[in-house]
Amino acid sequence: MKQPLVEVKQLKKYFPIKKGIFNRTVNHVKAVDGIDFTIYKGETLGLVGESGCGKSTTGRTILQLLPPTEGEVLYEGKNLVGMPKRELRKLRKDLQIVFQDPYASLDPRLTVGEVIAEPLEIYNLLPKKEREKRVDELLEVVGLNSYHAKRYAHEFSGGQRQRIGIARALALQPKLIVADEPVSALDVSIQSQVINLLQDLQEQYSLTYLFIAHDLSVVKHISDRVGVMYLGRMVELADKDELYDNPLHPYTKSLLSAVPIPNPLVKRERIVLQGDVPSPANPPSGCTFHPRCSACMDICRTQRPVFQEINGHYVACHLYN
Ligand code: SF4
Repeated sequence: MKQPLVEVKQLKKYFPIKKGIFNRTVNHVKAVDGIDFTIYKGETLGLVGESGCGKSTTGRTILQLLPPTEGEVLYEGKNLVGMPKRELRKLRKDLQIVFQDPYASLDPRLTVGEVIAEPLEIYNLLPKKEREKRVDELLEVVGLNSYHAKRYAHEFSGGQRQRIGIARALALQPKLIVADEPVSALDVSIQSQVINLLQDLQEQYSLTYLFIAHDLSVVKHISDRVGVMYLGRMVELADKDELYDNPLHPYTKSLLSAVPIPNPLVKRERIVLQGDVPSPANPPSGCTFHPRCSACMDICRTQRPVFQEINGHYVACHLYN
C-alpha cells in the first residue's frame, strides 16, 4: 500500500500588495489558493502549469522556504507549518530542493567541493577529511569526477552545473527532493540526461520527488502521477497514463494538445486558449479558468468547483458534478 510522505491540506500562500506612503496592504497576490494533495513515498509527482500558476511557490511553501498563509503540510504525519525552528531544522535535512537555474543557485565564490560540502558543514555532520571523501563520492554519483571539486561553477556547462546542484541536494541524504524546473534552462539533449540521472538516483536512494515543470511533455517520462495547476489551484491530478490518455479538465486538454506526438500518422487537434492567464491578484470568480474555457456554463462564473475524486482521478470542474 502507498504510504504518504507529504500531505498538503488547504495550503494557501498570499503575497501582500502594498501601496502608498503608509505602505498599506491593498490587495494580495493569491499565488497558492487552497490546494490539497499527497506525495507518496518513493513516487515522482509531476506538477505542471503555465508560468505564474503557483507551482514553484507550492514547492517552496511545502519546504517552508516560504511561510504559508494558511493550511497544513504534514511530513511523515508532522505538521511543518508553525513548527518550532529547532524541530524544523532537524527535518529540513530530509527536504531538499534543486533549482531551475543551477548557476544562480551555486555560490560563485566557492569551489564546487565547498558548495557540495556546505550543507554537511552547516549541520556539522562529518569531520573535514570525511566531508571531502563524501564530496568525492557525491561527484561520482552524479557523473562528475573528484578532481572537479577544486573548480568553480562557472567552469562547467549548464548540464554539469545542474549535476552539481543535485549532488549538493543529495549531501544530507534527503527523503524528498523538490525539483523546481530542473531541466527548463537546459538544451533538449541534456534534459534527458539529467532526467535519467534523477531516475537512477531515485532508485538508488529511495528518493521521493516533486518534479515541477511548465509543460506536460517534460514530466511524462519521469512522473508516476501528474498534477495540473491553474492560477494557484490544483485543477486535475491523476496517474500519469490516466491523465495523458483520459484528461478531464478543459485546461489539461489544452495543455496536452500542445504536446508533440512522436508518430507522424497520428494527428492531434491543437486547442488554443483565448486570452492570457488572469492576474492572481484579481482572479476571476467561480472557476478561475472560466474566461478561457470553451465549455463554460453559468455555474462556472459564480461557484468554485470542488476538487473531487472520480475513480482515483481528481478534477475540479463543474462538468463532472
Ligand atoms: Fe470550464 Fe466550467 Fe469546468 Fe471551469 S468548471 S473548466 S469553466 S467547464
